[in-house]
Amino acid sequence: MVGIGPHDGDRTLTPKRQTTDPNQTARLEMVRYQIAARGIQDKRVLDAMAKVPRERFIPERFQEQAFADRALPIAEGQTISQPFMVASMTAQLQIQPHHRILEIGTGSGYQTTILSRLAREVVTIERIGSLQKKAREMLATLNVSNVTFQVGDGTAGWVEHAPYDGIIVTAGAPTIPDPLVEQLTDGGVLVLPVGGEKEQVLILVTRKRNKIVRKKLFPCRFVKLIGQHGWQ
Ligand code: SAM
Repeated sequence: MVGIGPHDGDRTLTPKRQTTDPNQTARLEMVRYQIAARGIQDKRVLDAMAKVPRERFIPERFQEQAFADRALPIAEGQTISQPFMVASMTAQLQIQPHHRILEIGTGSGYQTTILSRLAREVVTIERIGSLQKKAREMLATLNVSNVTFQVGDGTAGWVEHAPYDGIIVTAGAPTIPDPLVEQLTDGGVLVLPVGGEKEQVLILVTRKRNKIVRKKLFPCRFVKLIGQHGWQ
């Protein structure tokens, strides 16, 4: 923000409020040009995307691309999703402040942190122990305290914490895992990529009483969801 008034003349313009966060401008531009410009208007989602420090979840060698419009590699051959995909899937969940959300595929923990700002509680499952450990440590440094972590196969959900108002799967499944649908609240939604090993379609599943409605959203590409109700 630049301060200029009627008596400023040709003085050098200085920011009204100095920010101590050197990445804030890059994050705001990411939100404006990659997310809001593509139709995502949910203010709480945009605000979370603007505030969570994406750069902290990106490996050192990809720092220059931290806000690029693409997924990036993390450890163990996995990826941190494209910012638009994170925002889009989050918006589909229509999270309310009292909601409990289940995430399958913690990965770097970036999506988890976005969810943690919107929901009362987030439960997240990752099959690779080293990724879960790193994500857990990062969320602790960011003072995130409403997330429960689990290492294991998330395709079966986590019955002990069910039901969930929203479930997000951040890896590509061959079919919709039945246990996840069963663990939704009445009115709950599940968003996940479903399809082949290389390309999928993002699907929104809504549970209303015992009626299940499936809606195709758009094509996408995710790493494989590996497990009992996923890829073998
Ligand atoms: N949301 C993550 C982020 O913000 O960094 C990106 C997740 S990455 C695209 C997909 C993750 O799903 C990988 O970390 C992978 O190990 C994990 N995954 C694959 N199959 C899984 C399963 N059955 N249960 C839990 N996690 C699984």
